[in-house]
Amino acid sequence: MAGQTHDPKALSSFAEDFLTTQGASAVGIATKETLAGGPPSSDLEYVLPGAKSAVSFAVPFDEDAIELYLSKRDHGSHQRDNFRTNFFVSGLAVGLADYWNQHGIPSVGVLANGVYRADTPGGMLDFRPDLSHRYVAVAAGVGWFGLSGNVITQRHGASVVLGTVVTRAELVASEPLPDEDRYCNECKLCIGSCASGLMHPKEKDSVQLGGQEFSYSKRRSYHRCDLVCGGFTGLAKNGKWSTWSPGRFPIPEDDAEFRGALVDALVASAPRPAIEGGFHHPAMPPTRKINMTCGNCQLVCHPDHEERKRRYALLVKSGVVVQNDDGSLEAVAPDIAKKRIAEMPADQRAMYEKVAPESS
Ligand code: SF4
Ligand code: SF4
Repeated sequence: MAGQTHDPKALSSFAEDFLTTQGASAVGIATKETLAGGPPSSDLEYVLPGAKSAVSFAVPFDEDAIELYLSKRDHGSHQRDNFRTNFFVSGLAVGLADYWNQHGIPSVGVLANGVYRADTPGGMLDFRPDLSHRYVAVAAGVGWFGLSGNVITQRHGASVVLGTVVTRAELVASEPLPDEDRYCNECKLCIGSCASGLMHPKEKDSVQLGGQEFSYSKRRSYHRCDLVCGGFTGLAKNGKWSTWSPGRFPIPEDDAEFRGALVDALVASAPRPAIEGGFHHPAMPPTRKINMTCGNCQLVCHPDHEERKRRYALLVKSGVVVQNDDGSLEAVAPDIAKKRIAEMPADQRAMYEKVAPESS
């Protein structure tokens, strides 16, 4: 077996070639120094003690499937593409790490999604990742924080899955993206696409990474996204469009009410007919799959402003989703959706909206 050089420059170029050959649209490198001062989930040593560097990369979603998804013509194509891209990115990270491990360079491929720290007060249910791909990607210049807090990349915007390989090798850090390549113009179409109100419309948060400050909209309770992106509910405030969720449970204004709202919706929605496809999430019982019903903030955010506006228009004109008895999802006009749910027997209606208990 030919030996892999341990020269930082050669290893860095090798990582880029390994990943771009398989379809990565952007690759960069962060080091302990360029991540210094970051939040706990930017700590490379949490996943690999003695780690010195991380390779960050992005793989784009299928754009045709995004079009069908946002316009509510087809749910399955993007859902399948989304889960498969996540598994592909995890596999690619493990592949590069395994290559280096076999050449005596201790490395770990971090899974793209769905891995949560067990050592926080609430354990897995705190949903704190082992490593934040976002922080690593921004420090490595793979993308920049958009106002949404998503990492936006030059070629594919936020419509990518991020991957990371953590290694004890010394690699050559890449620069964060220069000003001219950061396309976010604070158009707020991400905020307009979010039925949950996760992103604060006015306030911002910031993080320090390697002595640089990065800011984005303040995140309100993450349970907002759990409730909506988890598929339990999803009607926009104006009632004119929805996510792919057929649920109509209320979305509270107050962050403190979200945990209760989430538990109520989780229980009430359990008897809904199964939606085709889906995903076994570690926080869900093994008998219950979750479906991807939103992701709008990520999917509308294209680098081209005109395309971004077009995608947003597709979404807000796409109608309201209802579920058929066979589990399939269908987008209809808002008044028709209202009528369909109102005509359901009370026990069926309760799977989708809050039903007042009958008075005796
Ligand atoms: S949708 Fe607009 S405001 Fe939001 S992250 Fe993208 S470019 Fe920035
Ligand atoms: S995924 Fe959906 S619910 Fe979650 S923040 Fe983005 S737009 Fe909002």
